[in-house]
Amino acid sequence: MLKRNVLDKGFINVIDKLGSDLTVVNSARVSFGKRKEVFDDKDRKLVDYLAKHKHWSPFRHLMVQFHVKAPEFVMRQWYKHVVGIETTSSSSTKDHAWNEISGRYVPVTDFYEPGAWRKQSENNKQASEGLIDEQRSAATIFEIAMKQAIESYEKLLELGVAKEQARMILPLNQYSEVYWTASFQAIMNFIELRDEDTAQWEIREYAKAMKELMLEIYPETTSVWFEAIGK
Ligand SMILES: Cc1cc2nc3c(=O)[nH]c(=O)nc-3n(C[C@H](O)[C@H](O)[C@H](O)COP(=O)(O)OP(=O)(O)OC[C@H]3O[C@@H](n4cnc5c(N)ncnc54)[C@H](O)[C@@H]3O)c2cc1C
Repeated sequence: MLKRNVLDKGFINVIDKLGSDLTVVNSARVSFGKRKEVFDDKDRKLVDYLAKHKHWSPFRHLMVQFHVKAPEFVMRQWYKHVVGIETTSSSSTKDHAWNEISGRYVPVTDFYEPGAWRKQSENNKQASEGLIDEQRSAATIFEIAMKQAIESYEKLLELGVAKEQARMILPLNQYSEVYWTASFQAIMNFIELRDEDTAQWEIREYAKAMKELMLEIYPETTSVWFEAIGK
């Protein structure tokens, strides 16, 4: 199975995929009744043309199903990527092929621990920039808060409180797991928006891992796509 570890306890696993590099070019060539069995330089040029001229429908025949483990605050950003996710609904926003582990069934056990504490950016209100000087102090505040939250959660469970309610006191760094199925075009949109300077560092790590996996699954289509859009 193709897999990348991300952050301290997260990962992206490729569960399944539909199509190959030939799928995009054969989907485009059906217009003139042609089909090829071997990917060559002409196909590279065709992928480049399709990507540059926004002929995106052929790229939606490739689908990948991922199993992702990421902190909840990363999942909340990821969840905004809804278009091109699943292919059966006719609604413009479509149903979201997103299935997530439930804290109502499964006790929360894993939490993301940042390796470094970043400084609030001065010119971008939502971004970070460099590191703060007081790394040890920030780490201590984090450890105390986490210890208290986790111990309180466990005590509530011991008292017999339902998991669905006890979880309310847990912070956003709790790890979650989802199955996410998306088209090649939607995955490229995710990578372009999330492996980018203004995106949060943690989701960028997932976008970078996703790019590596896509280069392994569809090597030609992915590399030509990124060359075509200049990335
Ligand atoms: C750095 C950064 C900061 C962000 N900050 C915030 C924030 O503060 N708050 C917040 O709520 N969200 C925020 N977002 C999320 C952002 O607004 C998008 O919802 C998210 O990135 C998903 O991207 P998308 O809309 O391209 O994805 P999708 O919804 O999956 O759309 C994919 C593509 O489909 C096309 N498309 C989608 N809808 C239509 C339509 N109706 N008509 C025509 N074409 C369409 C567009 O080309 C679009 O790019 C942020 C994203 C980034 C990268």
